[in-house]
Amino acid sequence: MVHTDSIRLNTKGFSDTIDITGKVERIVKDSGIKNGIVTVFCPGSTGTITTIEFESGVIKDLQNALEKIVPSDIPYEHDYRWRDGNGFSHVRAALMKPSLSIPIVHGGMTLGTWQQIVFIDFDNRSRRREIVVQIIGE
Ligand code: ZN
Repeated sequence: MVHTDSIRLNTKGFSDTIDITGKVERIVKDSGIKNGIVTVFCPGSTGTITTIEFESGVIKDLQNALEKIVPSDIPYEHDYRWRDGNGFSHVRAALMKPSLSIPIVHGGMTLGTWQQIVFIDFDNRSRRREIVVQIIGE
């Protein structure tokens, strides 16, 4: 069976990192699916879904690392073309990927104890987001 739901979020942009583990857990539980896979997907080219230990130190470390890999203060072709100033947001999102899949076994996600599911909004403004959660299994 297939169960599809969504999570609505208001974000601040600029690598705003939001723990959505509890919301995904709720959807998995409500689906009644005991064994399968859950996919969490961001429809949008400036956001990512990943896992991290949801702790302010390592969240800042990831934000600092991304600032080094994809700086926000260098020229981007996208910005010359569209003037929306978020070339860095698109590049970060492409590198981090828009979705994540997690196995479900015996009714629960197989996440590690210190492994939370996060949505990171790389855009250069606040956004309303609707994250798609789809579960396939039985
Ligand atoms: Zn853009």
